[in-house]
Amino acid sequence: MAISLVEELRKQVPFSGHDVPEDDLLRDCVHCGMCLPTCPTYRLTGQEASSPRGRLWLMKSVADGRLSLLDPEFDEQMYQCLNCRACEAVCPSGVQYGPLVEASRAQLEQHRRRPVWQRFARKAALSWPFQDVRRMRAGVKVLRLYQKSGVSALLRRSGVLRLISLENLERMVPPISEPPMIPGKEMWQPRNATGTAHVFNGCVMGSVFSNVNRATGRVLAHNGYSTDVPVSQQCCGALFSHTGMLDEARKLARTNIAAFERAGDGPIVVNAAGCGSALKEYPHLLKDDPDYAERAKVFSERVKDVSELLASHALAGPMNVVGGTVTYQEPCHLAHAQRISAEPRKLLMQVPGLDLVEMKEASLCCGSAGIYNVIRRKMADDLGDRKAHHIVGTHADQVVTANPGCHMQLRTSLMRNGEEKPVRHIVEILDEAYGGKETAMHQRWAVDQSLTEAP
Ligand code: SF4
Ligand code: SF4
Repeated sequence: MAISLVEELRKQVPFSGHDVPEDDLLRDCVHCGMCLPTCPTYRLTGQEASSPRGRLWLMKSVADGRLSLLDPEFDEQMYQCLNCRACEAVCPSGVQYGPLVEASRAQLEQHRRRPVWQRFARKAALSWPFQDVRRMRAGVKVLRLYQKSGVSALLRRSGVLRLISLENLERMVPPISEPPMIPGKEMWQPRNATGTAHVFNGCVMGSVFSNVNRATGRVLAHNGYSTDVPVSQQCCGALFSHTGMLDEARKLARTNIAAFERAGDGPIVVNAAGCGSALKEYPHLLKDDPDYAERAKVFSERVKDVSELLASHALAGPMNVVGGTVTYQEPCHLAHAQRISAEPRKLLMQVPGLDLVEMKEASLCCGSAGIYNVIRRKMADDLGDRKAHHIVGTHADQVVTANPGCHMQLRTSLMRNGEEKPVRHIVEILDEAYGGKETAMHQRWAVDQSLTEAP
């Protein structure tokens, strides 16, 4: 009796509160099924429920009161989805799948009761380092010290990391070669500047991959852009949007909009596909904010992926010969969410001596998907192994991508499959062709190093 009463109550939980999936958007799906072959989870499971069409049907069922928001299948499918947006890119009906799955997750966040330990773990893992990027940089400084001191190798050998279930997480972090990049403290000035560019630093890019951000500054300067990294910018908020924590994402969006307004005109250049996609979608995120809705539109029009900006003209010379072969893994949030696919290839093909070989399924998700490869290991590993197999099949010397999550996932998937191929960002290849350091053509200025770090 008691059980059936609980079940009855669970049936009655509808979408409600804020961030409800929009019924107009849900109605766009005409159930044609053209998205099914592009969906990684459908490809791996063969289950209709694990396909975009199946998930949209579940959302519509909750919207129409035929299914409870708290039904375990709804929860499972909303979080089994990688939010890779491959379905969106091929949909003839223009279904905006990304905003729908994010709103569905926001609904689960609002209505689902989590155990205390889970709430604490989420706060520690997500909110603490990503809500203020200074904490992330401080943490990465410690991590770098840990890697350089040899403690990392010692703990791995001793088996302690395996014992406390941190071995896989630790292996995902690549060697951190440079100290974090602090906004406001570095800029690149070409001798004959033809424009300005403002670099979006990011949280993981600005700390774990700060070497890539500095390479981005050099490559932009080589191409005539006077380049800075504006102060007071924060994480883009993508991880919060993807986990249904939309209010946290909005807070970061407002901070970033204000920071880049203060920086002045010029493109906002992003080298992380996930961040670029999140920044370009601020107008949707802030559409109901009277103070920021218009500003978000102006902001998003300024956002350019680094390959989008550089491919809009021929690359400046001179470039050195970079020998060998590369294969390009398309980050989902570049290829599907931003529809930028030809530009990275166009840039790679301009590098003297470099051969680009295509891998099979280059645009299929590698399994990274934000924190998916941490919380959904089985599906992520299966996708990573599939990707590693395709990479090995190209016989390329190195793999190129354009997103930190993909970078880490490709590296660990290759290692798990006994391959040690270098994984690099596209600007690292361009930077190598330009000599890899500051030259007479441009200078890097350290801006007042006596400043304390601004948020
Ligand atoms: S392709 Fe678009 S319209 Fe067709 S089933 Fe998929 S989401 Fe629906
Ligand atoms: S976002 Fe990716 S994983 Fe999710 S339904 Fe669409 S294609 Fe499938």
